Order: sequence, then C-alpha cells, then structure tokens
Amino acid sequence: MGSVGAKEVPVLLSPEGLRIDGRHLDELRPIRIVAGALRQADGSAFVEWGANKVMAAVYGPREVHPRHLQQNNKAIVQCRYNMAAFSVDERKRPGLDRRSQEISKVISEAFESVIFAEEFPRTSIDIYIEVLQANAGTRCAGIVAASVALADAGIPMVDLLPAVAVGKVGGAIALDLKKEEDNFGEADMPMALVPQSGRLVLLQMEGHMTREELSKSLDLGVTGCRAIYEKMKQALRDRYAGGEAAA
Ligand code: ADP
Repeated sequence: MGSVGAKEVPVLLSPEGLRIDGRHLDELRPIRIVAGALRQADGSAFVEWGANKVMAAVYGPREVHPRHLQQNNKAIVQCRYNMAAFSVDERKRPGLDRRSQEISKVISEAFESVIFAEEFPRTSIDIYIEVLQANAGTRCAGIVAASVALADAGIPMVDLLPAVAVGKVGGAIALDLKKEEDNFGEADMPMALVPQSGRLVLLQMEGHMTREELSKSLDLGVTGCRAIYEKMKQALRDRYAGGEAAA
C-alpha cells in the first residue's frame, strides 16, 4: 500500500503483471447472463459480471408516454438506468441523479443506432436497467443485459451490443476494470461495439492516456466485446433451447 494524503492507494499491478484480483491485463471478470429472468416484462435479462448484478427489462413497442414524445416515422427508444440505494458500499441517495440521467441518455442513443425503429412508428421501446450491486462497469453490464433483454423481447436489431470498459492501471492498459482499478487507476474508458460491422456506438473516457495507449485500449476493448458477444448469444440459445429455466 502506498499512501496519498489520507487515502490508501492499493498496488494495482504486481511486478509479475497481475492485477489486484489476480487477473491478467487482458482478462475479463467472470460473466453469467440469464435471458428471460423476469415474467412480467416483454423481454428481460440478468447479468452477474464480477461483483456487478444488473437486471434489465424491456417493454414495447408500446404506446408513447408522455404522448408529445411520439414520432410519426419511428419508435422512440427510452432507457432508464438506475442504481439501487443498496447497490454500493455507502448507501446511495435514491433516485435519478445527474450521473444516472447521463448514462440513461448515452445508452438510449447507443440502442437507437441498432434498433430498426422505423418498423414501429408512433411507439416507444422502453428499457429499464436496475443495478442491484455495483463494482465498476455497471453501464457496460447494463448495456449487455438490455441488449439480451431486447432480443428476448423480439425487438429487431442490427446486432447485439456487447460492451466493456478498458482502462489504464499501474501504467498498463487493462480490460474490464473493477472498483479499485476504476477509483485509483489512470483512465477508464467504457465502450459498446456492433460486432458485425465493428462500429462503436458508445465511447467515453475519464482520465488520461497517450494516443498509442488509446489505440491499444480500443483493440483490447474490441477483443473483449467479441468474447462477451459469444456469451450473450449463448444466453439466448440457452433460453430458447430450454436450457436455463425462466422465472
Ligand atoms: P460504471 O459503473 O459504468 O463504471 P462509474 O465509472 O461512474 O460508472 O462508476 C464506477 C463505480 O463507482 C460504480 O460501478 C459504483 O461501484 C461506484 N459508484 C458510482 N456512483 C456511486 C454513488 N453515487 N455512490 C457510491 N458509489 C458509486
């Protein structure tokens, strides 16, 4: 442990190049995806990703509320990302804060670019993401869960949307940051990828890195997204082959 002021800064990278939880730099946390985890929604999915637990539910295409948001030529895509008060160590103030509003907006926009919205004019496709337990990367876990939930609801899309955060920890580029790495690392960059075309539909960055590190991060993130994509497809196959029991 080093120390900066009153804060203890953990050692994020060992001399052998292993991370705080023993992972290699290009290693994902364990991911489990269950498609169709809820009864009531049109589509749903539950994702456990490291210590993150995220539920997504999809309704629609359905009537637009509030009505004035209705568009004559296409469906609107509305996402609400919410962190439960009990999802973090220190109880989070309930409700939609600025961070949740921003995340809801960027996730809506990411899905608008892959959903065939023009097939459902004057309707709304509503995505609810509830973070039950948070340990960094929750917007990515939310996108993965929502994407499987949209497929489960039968919403036509260009492709599923895998997502992952890449960052810089202890001077090295690392895949899928956990909480300590997000808090004490040098950079955090969540991204979402359309696998078939290689198009990025969400890319955000906090912190700092060089152009070379940025390029390396993008490559690592794309590789990570492709691995997550396989798990998403498997979750849907399990659901429709009767593998995983639905709720
Ligand atoms: P993401 O979860 O997508 O990585 P952030 O980088 O904003 O989003 O947050 C990183 C982590 O910080 C979250 O996953 C969560 O563990 C924690 N966190 C975020 N907001 C709060 C909050 N209001 N209170 C406590 N912890 C929080």
